[in-house]
Parts: sequence; C-alpha cells; structure tokens
Amino acid sequence: MSRCYTQQAQMARFMSAPDDLLAAARAARVHAHAPYSGFAVGAAVRGASGRVYAGCNVENAAYPEGLCAEASAIGACVTAGETRIVEALVVADSKIPVTPCGACRQRLREFAADEAPVHAADADGIVATYPLGSLLPHSFGPSHVTPASRKPAT
Ligand SMILES: [Zn+2]
Repeated sequence: MSRCYTQQAQMARFMSAPDDLLAAARAARVHAHAPYSGFAVGAAVRGASGRVYAGCNVENAAYPEGLCAEASAIGACVTAGETRIVEALVVADSKIPVTPCGACRQRLREFAADEAPVHAADADGIVATYPLGSLLPHSFGPSHVTPASRKPAT
C-alpha cells in the first residue's frame, strides 16, 4: 500500500466518520421526549474504541429535571465502559448551529480533550464544527483534581 493511498484512506475515513455520528444522533432524536419545549435534540459521541453512543433530550414536567441529549449520550458511553470521548455531534432543527449547553460542554470535558471535534448539525447535515476547547476555554477538568490537590485530612 503506497503512502499516498494510506493518506487518502485515512482522509476518507476521517471525512466519512461524522456520518455515523449524524445517523445515530438523528435516530436518537426521533425518540426525544420534548412535550414542553417542542425542541427535539439528538446527540452522539464516539468513544476511543470507535463505537458510537447516542442520546436524546428527555424533558420532565418538573423542568429542571430534564436531561440534555448530550448527557444521555455520555451516560450511554460510560455505561458501556468507555471513559474517553474523541468526537461529539448534536443535531436539532434550527437556523443557527445548536451547540452543547454550558453544562454539557463541561460534561464532555470530563471525557474529551480540548481538540475533540464537536459537530453541530441540522436537518441538512453538519453545519459547523468546533474543537471542544473553543466551546469551553480555560476549562476546569479532571487534571485539576488529583490526590495532591485534595485537602489533607486533619
Ligand atoms: Zn446540555
């Protein structure tokens, strides 16, 4: 296999990679429980294994108890035993790109690096991609909480 072919194959894999995220997020969005806002959201994350985990928003009559689609997807990922996320996607029907809310940016930060791409998609496809670090700059994360950072027992 020539080096050029390898690079093309890798590029093709990268270029097609979000398609499976988009398909999974769209399929999850169909099941969104959004009777209050009417704003159905689907999300998908890719674990380091390459596996894709999806979720939808799950609203609640007690509004603050609702769950974002990203939180659902992250929960599915961790439940499957994966704790590294390399890519994420959010899909909703909006004229402006729908990105993860502040809380979900922090949720992603727990498992993803600053460089991890976060895609925003609408009915037509991906409309924007941001590195997680640009959505949550100067973030607080797991590296801040180390055994050495904990208050010593008295
Ligand atoms: Zn959220």
